[in-house]
Amino acid sequence: MTPKKMKALVKVRPGPGAELAEVDVPAAGPADVLVKVRACSICGTDYHIYSWDQWSAGRVKPPLVFGHEFSGEVVTAGPAAKGVKVGDFVSAETHIACGTCFLCRTGQAHVCQNVAIIGVDRPGAFAEYVAIPAENAWQNPSDMSPEVASIQEPLGNAVHTTLSGDVAGRTVAVLGCGPIGLMAVAVARAAGAAAVYATDVSPYRLDLARAVGATRAIDARGDAQAEIINATSGLGVDVVLEMSGSPLALKQAWRLARFGGRVSILGIPSRPVEVDLANDIVFRGLTVHGITGRRMYDTWHQVRGLLSSGRLDVTPLITHRLRLEDFEAGMTLMAAGQCGKIVMYP
Ligand code: ZN
Repeated sequence: MTPKKMKALVKVRPGPGAELAEVDVPAAGPADVLVKVRACSICGTDYHIYSWDQWSAGRVKPPLVFGHEFSGEVVTAGPAAKGVKVGDFVSAETHIACGTCFLCRTGQAHVCQNVAIIGVDRPGAFAEYVAIPAENAWQNPSDMSPEVASIQEPLGNAVHTTLSGDVAGRTVAVLGCGPIGLMAVAVARAAGAAAVYATDVSPYRLDLARAVGATRAIDARGDAQAEIINATSGLGVDVVLEMSGSPLALKQAWRLARFGGRVSILGIPSRPVEVDLANDIVFRGLTVHGITGRRMYDTWHQVRGLLSSGRLDVTPLITHRLRLEDFEAGMTLMAAGQCGKIVMYP
């Protein structure tokens, strides 16, 4: 029997902080499934909601159970829930696309303009239970660990960014070694990149980059640009993955890419960034690709394939395991950048 009440991490009111509270177990609609959460992981977005940045203040309507990366077991399935049954071990595509707009109907649901995000626009997964549309449930192999299953969603961002063009036999620079940047390092290696240069300002995260296969992990405050250009015989790298959102890294991104190269951007600058479009992009013949979400569901199949191939191991990136009650400790680690992925167990 599913209980009526559960513990959950709630953004109670606008402003910094969150509270562990007892709330109603969410009601699942006819096309939904209710999932008993086995593991959930902290995303940068969750930290933004916790610390209440400008974006959160404009988007999130408290009170809200937040959190969106999770895995768990289906405990109830509505009569119209297709393809999922009670007992299934699932994760979720967290972007609930409308399914009817031009973009959804032309295979581009990842940029649906009517999207609702779990844990941002509707109750999330930092809780004992979460209700999601059955359509958004992703079946996991029963032998996958709950923590790896939970982090497949951000891993999908990394896969989407890294594999939005060719990387096999190519040189790659990953600017920004937050968890998704670190995953991108691992994905590029797994996909056969010739060399992966990673930059960040945190020694802790540069060590993690080395642990998942970075050829070189370089302090971004030094002359990272010269070091990477030298390492590529003055040419620059074939592929730049901008994962930091730092205006300085973006400035480097154009110059680090070889002429004719690709720059894929997942990092989100907090304000508009100036670009010398003619010299940095046009005359260099760059392909620039903005990345949002995961392709539904191409990216998820690639994530599954990479993990099952045995070539991609993201477990070194799970650096902390906490009880849900200890979320404050997790948020402190996030603020300090002294972590890879933090997984919590409700
Ligand atoms: Zn749509």
